[in-house]
Amino acid sequence: MTERIAIYPGSFDPLTNGHMDIIERGASIFDKLIVAIAKDSRKTSLFDVDERMSMIEQAVSHLPKVTVDAFGGLTVMYAISKNACAILRGLRAVADFEYELQMANMNRKISANIETMFMMTSDKCFFVSSQNVKEVARLGGDVEGLVPPQVLEKVIKKFDS
Ligand code: ADP
Repeated sequence: MTERIAIYPGSFDPLTNGHMDIIERGASIFDKLIVAIAKDSRKTSLFDVDERMSMIEQAVSHLPKVTVDAFGGLTVMYAISKNACAILRGLRAVADFEYELQMANMNRKISANIETMFMMTSDKCFFVSSQNVKEVARLGGDVEGLVPPQVLEKVIKKFDS
């Protein structure tokens, strides 16, 4: 039987418990899940790609089906290059839905063979985003419980200096 491979693309700047929830649930459905850091994101980042990659690798080390990678260019082209059948995405709010609907349709237009699959955020994570984690940490707030422990340490250090 062919392996069911999915990619989970995003900026992960930094990885949050919301991302982890999607990764853990995704890993229970697919044979392989590749967490893929988008290098060409237009968002300005706090952590460089290597820092993000190493934080994610540590956080997913207990999940044998999960690997971490970085990619440039079109997500669909990257998915094809990895023999993936699906792009996994998470949905938090209505605002996510509108953006994701457009992206999913655009991606389907580029390649009809790659399906975008959505998972609803869990109740503990619906308000968590990389953006608000950074904002709270920048202003001296506590982000414990919103990011994995390895990430917490790095976030605190970033805003300490
Ligand atoms: P963010 O939107 O937090 O800056 P990314 O661009 O790295 O993060 O997001 C990658 C994917 O993870 C997107 O599909 C996004 O909707 C999803 N995601 C991010 N945070 C959560 C969360 N708390 N619950 C569910 N999905 C999430």
